[in-house]
Amino acid sequence: MAKPIILLVEDDLALLNGMCDTLDMVGYRTVTATNGREALASLREMRPDLIISDIMMPEMDGYDFHQAVSSDSDTATIPFIFLTAKSDQADVRKGLRDGVDAYLIKPFDLEDLLIHVENKLRRFATIRQEALTQLDELQQQIITMFSHELRTPLTYIQGYTDLLAGQPEVSGRDEIATFLEGIQVGSSRLNRLVENLLALVQLDTGVFRQEYDHFAVQDDVGRLVRLAANHLAPTAANKGVTIDVRVAEDLPPVSVVSTHINQVISNLLDNAIKFSRRPGAKVLVRVYQKESRLVVDVIDEGIGIAPYDARHIFDRFRQVNRAKHEQAGLGVGLAIARGLMQIHGGDIELVSKPGEGSKFAAWFPLDSPS
Ligand code: ADP
Repeated sequence: MAKPIILLVEDDLALLNGMCDTLDMVGYRTVTATNGREALASLREMRPDLIISDIMMPEMDGYDFHQAVSSDSDTATIPFIFLTAKSDQADVRKGLRDGVDAYLIKPFDLEDLLIHVENKLRRFATIRQEALTQLDELQQQIITMFSHELRTPLTYIQGYTDLLAGQPEVSGRDEIATFLEGIQVGSSRLNRLVENLLALVQLDTGVFRQEYDHFAVQDDVGRLVRLAANHLAPTAANKGVTIDVRVAEDLPPVSVVSTHINQVISNLLDNAIKFSRRPGAKVLVRVYQKESRLVVDVIDEGIGIAPYDARHIFDRFRQVNRAKHEQAGLGVGLAIARGLMQIHGGDIELVSKPGEGSKFAAWFPLDSPS
């Protein structure tokens, strides 16, 4: 295994050499600098596993050096230990506030230095390993999800096309209609997938924001909610779920891009229906004003979301128990919905209880009366 590299920054050459000898002797690789500026130059050449820096130094002191290290995303995660000549509480407090990981008060025993170094390296190695494992799992999940989402509709389309192409003369009208329906199901699923991916790109490239800046008009959110609910009523009916829409009277209009809001409400409603899981369940959609907000609540009596999962539910490519709930989709609907609400100056908030249901509250800011 490669030796861990430690960057030592200290203008007291006797102390610097002492630390170097000790650390080299027990198997670390050390790189040295005598002030912050020199240390920053070294960081452009190599990446240490740990930085130990004095505070009082000529040219660039430890605080400025730490500030430069922590504001650069390439170096911000390197553990950082300060050496300070004073046991001055103010010094220690300032460093801790700036996010320094530990302190060593001079004069210190070289044994203490070793203990600090070992502890920090071990702790950061564990954190890094955990982050890598999580990243690995997420990557694996995304690959599985993508291949499934692409393969399933393609299998539909290919299978039915092959049947049609293989036996044109024996197929009756009904049979042909069934095959064509299968092809339709497959292609609309692929279409949804492409639309969702495109929506993510439009969010990231600012296209949605430009649409908002140029095309937003004052509109009646209650009307948009009713339209989306009507559109999804057949899907709900298929699952034995009823949608109840209640719009408060005399609501002020809101500046919106109607296609964006249609997408937000449709995504929330689609999920509410999908996760209802019980025929006879009700989805309630309320539109009302609360103080300086216009709120759209989408409330279901479905499976609910555990607090841990709720924290990540708006992240991209996140689904909870995909296999267990036999979910389709890419786990991006909520990320898109939230992005669109934020462009409208609002947001989406979630309250949920596993086994009881969820409430997604999408809100718009209302202009304060002038
Ligand atoms: P997808 O587009 O794949 O449905 P979403 O971003 O819309 O993804 O939702 C992400 C995940 O959040 C879903 O896969 C599901 O696990 C969970 N979820 C969303 N809405 C609800 C809901 N109303 N009840 C329970 N779980 C939900």
